[in-house]
Amino acid sequence: MNKTATTCPQCHSSVPFNQGYASWCECGWNVGIPAQWTDDKTMTRRYERMQRLYQAFADAWTAGQALVKPMAAVITALLTLFVTIGLAAYVALMIYLFEDPFFIGRGLAIILLIGLYLPIAPLVSFAKQPYSVTRKQAQRTFEQMDRICSVLRVRKVSEIQISESLSGIRLVQPLWRRKRILVCGLATLAAQDPASFTAGIVRELLIAKRNRQSSIDIAKWARDLLQTAYDVIVGSGALPSSESSGSVDRAQYSRSLRMMRRQSMIRMLRVFTFPIAVIPQSMHYLLNRSLQVLEHGVVYRANRSTAKLTGPKPLEQYLTTLSLAESLQFAQERLSETASPQDRLRAMADKMRTLPQRERERQLRTQPEDELRRPLLNWQYDLLRRCVQIDETPSSMTASIPSVSMSDWSAVSRELEASMA
Ligand SMILES: [Zn+2]
Repeated sequence: MNKTATTCPQCHSSVPFNQGYASWCECGWNVGIPAQWTDDKTMTRRYERMQRLYQAFADAWTAGQALVKPMAAVITALLTLFVTIGLAAYVALMIYLFEDPFFIGRGLAIILLIGLYLPIAPLVSFAKQPYSVTRKQAQRTFEQMDRICSVLRVRKVSEIQISESLSGIRLVQPLWRRKRILVCGLATLAAQDPASFTAGIVRELLIAKRNRQSSIDIAKWARDLLQTAYDVIVGSGALPSSESSGSVDRAQYSRSLRMMRRQSMIRMLRVFTFPIAVIPQSMHYLLNRSLQVLEHGVVYRANRSTAKLTGPKPLEQYLTTLSLAESLQFAQERLSETASPQDRLRAMADKMRTLPQRERERQLRTQPEDELRRPLLNWQYDLLRRCVQIDETPSSMTASIPSVSMSDWSAVSRELEASMA
């Protein structure tokens, strides 16, 4: 006989059982913080901080208030300004040294120039995805995109790229570029749901718009610059960043780096470099902390606006698709390396159809969207539910997002799939 129920070891109540999937219980058994986070104290602290922020949003919105975090904005702005002035001084020093008649001055200037290259690259360069779709190749898709952009009053998307590893949708635009690239994860296509696909795009465009307007983008750049400064000073790539703690490669790398350092002269040098490195390190810590508060706020607000524009259901569906990232990724990685993108799409779509409801719920509660750089999906889902109860129906909006018909969608997915051929 197949087992259909099991007992929760924590509260001893009976919970459903699905062969091959983790069982969980409302009391919190198997639906807590991911294990790799509880092992990491920095990650746990960050989680708790972000949980308090989520709670603050929930309380404020339920009471019909807007939550503002002026301190986080002030600290972010001040540190960004400080970094910008610091960089300007660095460039000025470099130019000054180049005018030095002696070779020592020029040598130093060249060293400074090499150091400058590192933080500048991410301002202009795009990470290349394997499949890109241009306006010419996909006219119907871009027609839909342009319509969405004009309702949101944002600049048009220049190119679409499809990523096999990404689970959601991301708008990429380096600070100094006018070109905007929308990167879509295969999973969002596999869902075959035009409404949730549209909601995902709307949400991403709103997040990007808000990040630009509130200078979050430039603050992120300042944060990267501080990280680079720290790395250059201590001669490593090992700033204690909780974002990278999940990666095994990175852990191994830092371990061997630590070993090397113990045995080498670098340890001696660190006596001198450490006091200097503390400056960018503590600034990075402070900036990162305030930025997280602002970034999470942007995501929550973007979700709320998206729900008003597209209706809440499609966005809920989109968040659910994001929560399945791990399962879907596993489904496509099981295929052989030579499998076509179409096969991968089909494998993901099959997985999405066959996943038990109970397992979907577990994933939504436990899967992060993007480590903790964005709020946990269940926090987003919960706040979205609260907003729906508070906010009026979309009729209060002057313009709403045009819905994508099934024939439009099949044209769009045909065009996108063709680009992967
Ligand atoms: Zn229980």
